[in-house]
Amino acid sequence: MRAEFPDFRLGTELATSFTATLTERQGDAVERIPTPQRLVDWLAVHGLAVESCTTAQIEHARELRESIHAAATATAMGASPPASAVRIINACSMRGRAAAILTPEGNRQWRLSSASCVDDALSVIADDAISIIAGERTGRLALCASPTCRAAFFDTSQSRTRRWCDMNTCGNRQKKARFNAGRRKNAGSTE
Ligand SMILES: [Zn+2]
Repeated sequence: MRAEFPDFRLGTELATSFTATLTERQGDAVERIPTPQRLVDWLAVHGLAVESCTTAQIEHARELRESIHAAATATAMGASPPASAVRIINACSMRGRAAAILTPEGNRQWRLSSASCVDDALSVIADDAISIIAGERTGRLALCASPTCRAAFFDTSQSRTRRWCDMNTCGNRQKKARFNAGRRKNAGSTE
């Protein structure tokens, strides 16, 4: 059954990986967390394991996701984040009770207050979004150059000139489209 669900896009930043659970927003949108169980799966992949998720909780998660997307998009364009998005991100950040834990190996882990606490996991994501949008981390928020995508992503490349949210998908598709367009042009000129 699970194989029928769209794969996750695994980015390096928690908040923008989360917004990438809905892709092709400007084209034929692909929902990558279509069921509560898929959100549980996604959270586990990102070190925020919860045992279960209700329909209300996934709706909540999607509301946070679209708020982060709206705020990150505005920031990437040099504007202030919309007030409604700010309100939801802040509410999610304040509602959770996740604690940062240092492992014996010296890595950070998140401890949620209970195994069913999706709210705690969402607060960690909201907090990550705040640090990116507030400009606390080294990098730059940018929008994917693909016209059907326009995802907000966090560019940590040295030159800060990354154009696509994901090189393996949007970047590749764009390259292929250019290649095919070039071939068509060449074919046309020999006729
Ligand atoms: Zn993209």
